[in-house]
Amino acid sequence: MHEPALEEIEVSLPDNLMVLTDLDGSLLDHHSYDWQPAAGWLRFLREQRVPVIANTSKTAAELGTLRQELGLTDYPCVVENGGCVLLPPGWRATADPAMDEQGWTRIHLGADYATLRRAVAALREEHGYAFRGFADLGVEGVQQSTGLPLAKAQQAHAREASEPLLWEDSEARLTAFRQALQQQGLSLVRGGRFYHVTGRSSKGVALTWLAGRYHQLHGVQPLTLALGDGANDLPMLATARYGVLIRGADYQPLLPSFMDDPSRLYRTASTGPTGWVEGLDYWLVAGLEHNNE
Ligand SMILES: [Mg+2]
Repeated sequence: MHEPALEEIEVSLPDNLMVLTDLDGSLLDHHSYDWQPAAGWLRFLREQRVPVIANTSKTAAELGTLRQELGLTDYPCVVENGGCVLLPPGWRATADPAMDEQGWTRIHLGADYATLRRAVAALREEHGYAFRGFADLGVEGVQQSTGLPLAKAQQAHAREASEPLLWEDSEARLTAFRQALQQQGLSLVRGGRFYHVTGRSSKGVALTWLAGRYHQLHGVQPLTLALGDGANDLPMLATARYGVLIRGADYQPLLPSFMDDPSRLYRTASTGPTGWVEGLDYWLVAGLEHNNE
């Protein structure tokens, strides 16, 4: 538990700090989905009115209760690997689409689900690729492959902007599949358990969009700090001013050399929420000042 350290050390945060975080394998433990090690930091950031924005491969339906549990209901969240940004009332601008009944405004940054499904089905038909997407698995198959209880599997299955796939073919054919998707303006990113097919959006595109909205609302650019553990987080970590690459539970994403810059990216020794705390301690308790340009 981190609370004692936060109370003992005087932590002075920049006024324009904005935190974006992956959930699975980062704020949430990869295996148990526990986030208690981060509870002290989450409470402190809420008290300091620092936006903490979940940027996840999860669906909006899956985030339903988790947003409340984590205390993130006042802030935007990004679902399905950057495919859709959900804004609370306080983050709206006049030209935005109408709010839904829960008060959320949806900004779609990628392709819609029907387009993605058609594209992957057509490529499989043409080339005989072996994979199973969520559309193929159905709720029951999602439950089996994730170990989630039924209600959570239903929420995971409610896609709006990305199609997760279990790849059951060779690495070489994965490369060919990826290239074929790219030719149609679609992307393939690796998450914790699945590959995700998305439109032109990414977690990094979503960060840039949210930084623009922050600037529009507050008149200053935010100082962005992003945390994640997977290859799908790299565009977000590369776009943020400060990045935290949390040690992966099962694999380490290959870090492009331009990102291997200790003045912008910190790699944790710990996994999951303990690594999340380690990353915030590194940038925020040690102080951002001596790293500032
Ligand atoms: Mg992750």
